[in-house]
This record gives sequence, structure tokens and C-alpha cells, in this order.
Amino acid sequence: MIGAVDIGGTKFAVGMVDEHGKVLARAETPSYPERGLQDGLARITRMLRETAEQAGGALQGIGIGCTGPVDPHSGTLGLIEFLPGWEWFNLVEALQNQFKVPAAIENDADAAALAEAAWGAGQGAARMIYVTVSTGIGGGMVFDGKLYRGAGGSHPEIGHHVIDPGGPRCFCGAHGCWESLASGTAMAKNNGRASAYEICQAAERGEPEALAAIEEEGRYLGMGLANLVTLFVPDVIALGGGVMQSRALFWDKINETIRTSCGLVPHERTRLVPALLGKDVALAGAARVFLQRYG
Ligand SMILES: [Zn+2]
Repeated sequence: MIGAVDIGGTKFAVGMVDEHGKVLARAETPSYPERGLQDGLARITRMLRETAEQAGGALQGIGIGCTGPVDPHSGTLGLIEFLPGWEWFNLVEALQNQFKVPAAIENDADAAALAEAAWGAGQGAARMIYVTVSTGIGGGMVFDGKLYRGAGGSHPEIGHHVIDPGGPRCFCGAHGCWESLASGTAMAKNNGRASAYEICQAAERGEPEALAAIEEEGRYLGMGLANLVTLFVPDVIALGGGVMQSRALFWDKINETIRTSCGLVPHERTRLVPALLGKDVALAGAARVFLQRYG
């Protein structure tokens, strides 16, 4: 079994995963960023030991999916907005020393993409792009079984390409990037609602304002996806994340936007499908990070 660690902004999830992506045991804790790095590391280590005991197998190695930038080659964390004081820490080395097994790390969206490619919606597809739409928009690209990396092992941010240069300024520096227009956060903010989920529910009830918001969201989602289709013509785009739970509401608009925007490529070859791993994607992804390095 493989130890899986998912480091998010609000929580840390840890578990044991078998070689087919099945989660055997799991535990989680709020991230408590104010308690600092050593406390967080101690909690992760303890949860790894506890879940390993629960699952009862032999620990083969450890995979980590981590929010924000990481250096997959050295194992060092980058500057993570939600975890001040964790930057430049080598989490791979720390866990290898504790558990005496090999470990590997990737950005969490890349980890999820690897899991969907191997065990989920991308099985059998030579070129797959995974997109998650929740509070933000992220994703990863797996081409011919390999994670696509940028220079120096960097993680390309497909959620931050520009859709509308007249749009709001994003923390990435651009105006009107995909995330700033089409994320759940953007949807809620633009419509004065508490959450994207609330808008989707109101739309189900047929409220006209909510239906207009859904129409706009479908168009923005469609524009970003159309750009991915035109740039890469992947076999599959797998859509995950909280907003995509309500994908039926956006589906027609997304497909119409792709159909009318991607005239120079065989866009009908790209299958748009829901991601399959659901909530397990983070732990399965972390395990896959280990397997793609050492499996
Ligand atoms: Zn941005």
C-alpha cells in the first residue's frame, strides 16, 4: 500500500491507497496554518502511522499532492499562499527520513490529473486534460501517460489564461483570467450570492436571475474549454470540482461555445466527460504521484 498525503489550504488529508487506487484508510485535520510547520508535519506523520496501522499492509512509499507551487524534482515546497512559513521546506526528504521509504511530490491538480488518467475518466485516452472548477480553477495535462511539465518542472496554470482582458484583476496579475470569471468564487461574487451552489439551486427552481447567471457561467466555462480544445485537441477533458456537480446546467452552453469557437480543429474528437474519482481524487492522486515516480 501507498501512503497518500494531500496538503490543501484548509485541510490536510492522509490515507493509505492500494495499487488500484482504492482508499483503504483515511484521516484528516484542519490545516491550522497559525500553528506552524513543525506542528503540521507532526500531525501528518501521526496520521500516516495511524492509517498505516488501520490498513494493516506494508508501506511501499509515500506520494504527496500539495496546493501551490512545488519542485517535484527536489521535493521542496514553493511559496504557498495559505501556509506561511512552509516555503522552501523539503517535505519529501522529511517523510523519507521518518518512514524509510521513497516519497514523491506534485502540485495537487497535477496529482488529481494523474489519478483520473490512470484510474478515472481518462483511462485509455492518450491525451487527457483534467480541469477542476471549485473555488478556483486548476488542472493538469497527461499526455501519453506522462504528466506535462513546464520548464524546470513547473506546473502550468491553465485556470489563469485570459478570457476577457476587460475582466477583473486576478492575484495572478492578469485581468479577466478564466478563474477570475468562471470559478465558483467569481460566480458567487458577480451575482451577489453566498455560493455558486446557491445559484445552481435557484436555477433549478427556475429563478430568472439565477438562470442568467448560469448562462454566463456556461459561456465562460465554454470559452476556457474551447481554448484548451483549440490548443491541444485532447482525446478527453475530464471535469471535476464542486461547480461541476451541477454540470447539467452548463452542459449545452459549454458544448455550443466549443462548437462555434473551435472551427480549425476536429473538436468533435474531444470528449468532455465528468471526472470519476469524486472525493477520493486527492488521495488517489497522491498515491499516483508515488507510482508514476517509483511504480
Ligand atoms: Zn488569474
